[in-house]
Amino acid sequence: MEFRQSNKLSEVCYEIRGPVIEQADALEEAGHSVLRLNTGNPALFGFEAPEEILQDMVRMLPQAHGYTESRGILPARRAVAQHYQERGFPEADVDDIFLGNGVSELVSMSVQALVEDGDEILIPAPDFPLWTAVTTMAGGKAVHYICDEQSDWLPDLDDMAAKITSRTKAVVIISPNNPTGAVYPREILEGILDLARRNGLMVFSDEIYDKILYDGAEHHHVGALAPDLVVLTFSGLSKAYRVAGFRSGWLLVSGPQQHAKSYLEGLAMLASMRLCPNAPAQYAIQAALGGRQSIQELVLPGGRLHEQRDKAWEKLNEIPGVSCVKPKGALYAFPRLDPAVHKIHDDERFVLDLLLREKIQVVQGTGFNWPSTDHFRILTLPRADDLDAAISRIGRFLDGYRQ
Ligand code: PLP
Repeated sequence: MEFRQSNKLSEVCYEIRGPVIEQADALEEAGHSVLRLNTGNPALFGFEAPEEILQDMVRMLPQAHGYTESRGILPARRAVAQHYQERGFPEADVDDIFLGNGVSELVSMSVQALVEDGDEILIPAPDFPLWTAVTTMAGGKAVHYICDEQSDWLPDLDDMAAKITSRTKAVVIISPNNPTGAVYPREILEGILDLARRNGLMVFSDEIYDKILYDGAEHHHVGALAPDLVVLTFSGLSKAYRVAGFRSGWLLVSGPQQHAKSYLEGLAMLASMRLCPNAPAQYAIQAALGGRQSIQELVLPGGRLHEQRDKAWEKLNEIPGVSCVKPKGALYAFPRLDPAVHKIHDDERFVLDLLLREKIQVVQGTGFNWPSTDHFRILTLPRADDLDAAISRIGRFLDGYRQ
């Protein structure tokens, strides 16, 4: 008897936790130390959880052993609603909020609740690949709009407009962006919203990096710019509060909910089917949003994340045949390998070769649904000295690397 994965999964691709990981695990089992620059997990790089979050969770633990309301506990939803009320969503209400086991679970639920077989969702290329994976798994078609490296990785609105069809249901916006670090200015967001407005699209705005901004970059909450559109705003504790392992996130529904009544009922049903988000982690939300925003110190000049972003960007650009747009937000850099200098036909092979030779694990650009094999993503989470050493090794590896 052989058990095969379902056909639903045959087209689904999710490389960040893909086959290269197995090879990295095998190397570690064989006694090598592997520098894992593949997942944006701050805890792995010495970032500590804010103390008040831990204290509140521990204090509430004795009361957190039962299921909660499927949308999440009221005090946490109240804290999220207040957070957004002060940030351009005056109407935000506890009933507009769903808590989740990380943004990931909410992304999956939101797409599943919307998509019929063959429906299309506009997703950036490159993207955080979960969006593409869950769309495909839901029977939909991920249609990728190109973000333009020549324009600081901002979305190409003409490309987006050209890709809208009668089957397009929604557009996904990721700003600050993973993997490029782009932070979209207001005009670009207005341009996307205009397309959404004219074509009756729902907007999914993944804003998990909204507090990780460098060089004075300004984050705009997409939903606050378009109170006339149905917008789902996603965020959570994994990045700005450095507690990715707690699996705690939320989504806010804004706009004319009367046009999304059936959809929201579907979403509520999916929320009850997962019973509820992990209860102790829900108690972290109020403490996080109401506590000291220590992320601010990390992203300002002199702060650890700022320094590391600078180091990664400078060092990558020093490698002959490599160029990198300066990330304005988030925790990654997405450098380009000039095809005239570095001929990479298979970027997964490239990543594997780098892993085997240098014991450094990065993610290939095609893993982010980037259409060509000329990019990879590296984290800006390691300490500046470690980044310096790792990128020097990548430079040495590239020198003479041929496929
Ligand atoms: N959205 C983006 C853009 C991300 O980069 C990530 C994680 O890397 C997530 C969502 C998932 O976050 P969570 O840990 O809340 O599931």
